Amino acid sequence: MLQRACGVILCLWLSMIPASAADYFVDNQDDYFAAEKKLQAGDTIILSNGVWQDFEITLDAIGTADNPIRLQAQTPGKVVISGQSNLRIGGHYIIVSGLIFRDGYSPSGEVISFRRNINTLAFNSRITQVVVDHFNKPDRFDNDYWVGIYGQNNRFDHNNLVGKSNKGVTLAVRLNSADSRENNHRIDHNYFGPRPVLGSNGGETLRIGTSKFAQYDSSTIVENNFFDRCDGEVEIISAKSGGNILRGNVFFESSGTLTLRHGDNNLVERNIFLGNGKDHTGGIRIINKGQIVRHNYMEGLRGSGFASALTVMNGVPNSPVNRYVQVSDAQIVGNSIYNSDFITLAGGADAERSAAPIDSVMRANLITGGDAGPIFRIQDDISGIKFAENARIGAAHANHPDGIKTIKAQLVRAKNGLLYPRASQFSKYGVPRDLQPITKEEVGASWYEKPAAGSLFSGGSTLAIAPSEGVIEKAIAHAKAGDVIALGDGEYIVNITLAIDKAITLKGSGQTKIVFDRPSLFEIAEGGSLRLEGLTIDGALAPDSVGNALIRTTSYPIQSNFLIELNRVQISNLSVNKFFDVIKLGKSTFADRITIKDSQFSDISGSILLATSETEDYGQYNAEYVEIKDSNFQNIGGPIVNLYRGGRDESTFGPHFNLKDSRLVNVGLGKNNDSKSAIMLHGAQYTKILDNKFISSAPIVVNHTVGRPQTRIADNKFVSTPRVMISELNYEGEPRVILSDNAYVEGEGK
Ligand code: CA
Repeated sequence: MLQRACGVILCLWLSMIPASAADYFVDNQDDYFAAEKKLQAGDTIILSNGVWQDFEITLDAIGTADNPIRLQAQTPGKVVISGQSNLRIGGHYIIVSGLIFRDGYSPSGEVISFRRNINTLAFNSRITQVVVDHFNKPDRFDNDYWVGIYGQNNRFDHNNLVGKSNKGVTLAVRLNSADSRENNHRIDHNYFGPRPVLGSNGGETLRIGTSKFAQYDSSTIVENNFFDRCDGEVEIISAKSGGNILRGNVFFESSGTLTLRHGDNNLVERNIFLGNGKDHTGGIRIINKGQIVRHNYMEGLRGSGFASALTVMNGVPNSPVNRYVQVSDAQIVGNSIYNSDFITLAGGADAERSAAPIDSVMRANLITGGDAGPIFRIQDDISGIKFAENARIGAAHANHPDGIKTIKAQLVRAKNGLLYPRASQFSKYGVPRDLQPITKEEVGASWYEKPAAGSLFSGGSTLAIAPSEGVIEKAIAHAKAGDVIALGDGEYIVNITLAIDKAITLKGSGQTKIVFDRPSLFEIAEGGSLRLEGLTIDGALAPDSVGNALIRTTSYPIQSNFLIELNRVQISNLSVNKFFDVIKLGKSTFADRITIKDSQFSDISGSILLATSETEDYGQYNAEYVEIKDSNFQNIGGPIVNLYRGGRDESTFGPHFNLKDSRLVNVGLGKNNDSKSAIMLHGAQYTKILDNKFISSAPIVVNHTVGRPQTRIADNKFVSTPRVMISELNYEGEPRVILSDNAYVEGEGK
């Protein structure tokens, strides 16, 4: 009996496989393309384990639902596609799995494309368990997508997209032809790994549609994905089409927002936003008609303005499709917004964006937070939003909309890791109990490690050295990423420029001095980050050369964002020519952070930081955060910081500049200092200059360009130093700056 049953099953199974079904095992590109030409429904191509170099894979084939065409790795995770490579699929019922794209970049506009070419799109096809890891074009401002989805009924699931540092959307759903619309694609269970700050527009992690086709429905489902530190730019997800469902995704420590930028009737539900207090972590931004935003959970978000935990925008009357369509019929229901700084309503109201939201409702939302001041920012008439049965835990702020009552309730963390009111009487507010945040372990390819958090400068070992010829060069060559090179007492003479291609700390004893006889001592290269601690560096032996700089970047672009930290250093005598800088950042290079603290600088002809490589005004700047604390600057010819962020685009959060508790004496008065300033900031978005002393120096010059610059200059003392100069280049009205408790005196002040 059992034998007979098995026989029937076997027959059924055999009948589903076409007679011609073949497995093609290939280990070179010629055999691959020969096999590709022969493919029939049910066939499989297996790539042999190993590294495939410069492989532009095409797969143009017709499978069926029962007998798809497969392209797979001999062993998932053991097939690496590197060099100048990409993958394009076109046809029907194709499944690709198990590949890694690493150590290279696509020579075309996409790494993975769901179209063979403009005429052959993919339908009913799937890419799963594929990894794209730092597969970046050499120039960070050279544009591509890592994944372009065209056609219909495709699925992209359980993939890892990690470390995109060049310009262009990580994953784009395109609607640029009729058969790519109402596509029913499903994008699920993917790991969107860290996407560093791009320093320009074009750093979105996921975009669905474009403004040009925003009147069409995409009907794409984006669910159960994990967005880990996706910081590329202000939009993490930009929905630019209608009828999409964005559900059950986790946004972990990601700066930016899920933005319903264009298109109507999208559903955004059961997503989890966890900011952990990181800068610019936002939630959901609503524009257009008929958007439903319900049962989303936001905690610890620090975004403001357009990056608030929740932003309901003002629109432009009769808006063209590429501007801002007025919000109407929005339903914002049952969301929990905890310990977050801002909810912005009628956001962005100005002379152009004058159409306030209408026919909308906010109901059953539960809110805490507002430690940075009143949580609600209301920028225009909100009578078009009906508030019903919302609650905020805590005292009422001045600008609470009616319909948000204040309650006293205690929140407790449930098994799912989320907070809920302890008392059942409040269970009508906020997210439902059955939310289950997707974890990192449940997404992506199970066989590929996901990047951990942690400082670049930690995790290594310490190598101790003492002065002798070439000792620093050798130590750097031997060091591994994260290592500390501990320099013993004495003088070190360096005769070459030290290339830094990993994260390295050089730590002196306090009695350690370095002199050098090249135009630069350090050159930051791909993968390099540099921390200097407890060192004295003297530039008196450096030759007169164009572009002298103690620390410079390579003359070609650098893909990876880097860090430079100077802590307890003394740097002097960089004066052999008129423009000798301490740190000079070149074109297409980007520092996540430059930190200077407890340090002394004297007799320097250029700048401490020159970050002005941008000339085209595309808004492609050099540094996201520049922070200086507890430091002294004396006899500096240029401005200590010259930071330039051009253009009028509003897609970045930075640059940020902080100067605190520092002292500047005779700074910025070099006759070659064209900026005529002690600090020159052009286009910085966040500036704080607090508790400093400026003596016999040039003024601070701040040019505001775009966005809503937040500039605060307070509690400084200016001795024989001209007043702060603030200019608004694209804004009518008084300069937007907080100037308070600054003292100006004349004299010899110390
Ligand atoms: Ca953008």
